Amino acid sequence: MAGTYVRVKCSDCENEQIVFGKAATTVSCAVCGTTLAVPTGGMAEIDHEIVETVEAR
Ligand SMILES: [Zn+2]
Repeated sequence: MAGTYVRVKCSDCENEQIVFGKAATTVSCAVCGTTLAVPTGGMAEIDHEIVETVEAR
């Protein structure tokens, strides 16, 4: 159980980016810099569309 990754679509520029579901640091969009994920100690808080969930093996 290495964790889960999610593909997040930025609501500002529609860039899709893979984000670790339990991100320990704030994740910003690589294109426009909008915050995509905020660490909470568990699953990161993601205020954008999650396109798909990718189970890590
Ligand atoms: Zn963006």
